[in-house]
Amino acid sequence: MFQYSARTDLLQDRIILVTGAGDGIGRAAALAFAAHGATVVLLGRTLEKLEAVYDEIEAAGYPQPAIVPLNLDSASEHDYIELSNKLHDEFGHLDGVLHNASLLGQRTPLENYDPITWDQVMRVNVHAPFLMTQTLLPLLHQSSDASVVFTSSGVGRKGRAYWGAYAVSKFATEGMMEVLADELENTPNIRVNAINPGATRTQMRAYAYPAEPPEVNPEPADIMPLYLYLMGPDSKSINGQSMDAQGEGKA
Ligand code: NDP
Repeated sequence: MFQYSARTDLLQDRIILVTGAGDGIGRAAALAFAAHGATVVLLGRTLEKLEAVYDEIEAAGYPQPAIVPLNLDSASEHDYIELSNKLHDEFGHLDGVLHNASLLGQRTPLENYDPITWDQVMRVNVHAPFLMTQTLLPLLHQSSDASVVFTSSGVGRKGRAYWGAYAVSKFATEGMMEVLADELENTPNIRVNAINPGATRTQMRAYAYPAEPPEVNPEPADIMPLYLYLMGPDSKSINGQSMDAQGEGKA
């Protein structure tokens, strides 16, 4: 596990957007960021799940979050501009984006892969983070210390049979992170990195490995040290890195 002990006010006064914030790792990240002082913008496609996370954050007495229901599969450029305008009007700037939402798609040989599913996975996993980042960059430039974090996977570094569009989308994610990080190399107030969470006890993991007992993998809350490190000021000098929340070798 990545070793880092975050002080409780680590993210005080920061505005951080989390995609896929209603479930799994995104939910845990939203709760962890809020617990460390951030105002989190909860973005996802299932309103009830976002509302449940909102209620948890409010009940714990953390800074009041915001909810943005958005389906990344069908979101248009117009939706991202609207999101950016809303954040601009409400906060004036943005200190962090965690691109976490992803679709697993099919587990099948490329020879049989359904082209419609392929498109859907690429839209949610690659096109949406591209458009969202492009639209939100002006707000990130307004921050004194902004962090953009993409979510990768072991299959985004070494291709593996039957992982289809998901694996290809994660290679693209690593590439997008590296291109953007290089472009912003001389922009000291924005850094861009990626996290490979490693095997984690979520719906997606259960779907990908139906025969695996869930308890062999850590809970999303257990892998938060790297998320906190990359969102907070202690990682200010880190740019263009793809890091492992559970250490090397986990997929
Ligand atoms: P889950 O499937 O548990 O959660 C994914 C979240 O993304 C859900 O909140 C889901 O919303 C949201 N989401 C999916 N599609 C869309 C969409 N079209 N629009 C908006 N939101 C959407 O996944 P994990 O928590 O396991 O995964 C989080 C990230 O970590 C992903 O990027 C995944 O690839 C990566 N990862 C996970 C690993 C693991 O072992 N769990 C290992 C390696 C990488 P809803 O709840 O409404 O479906």
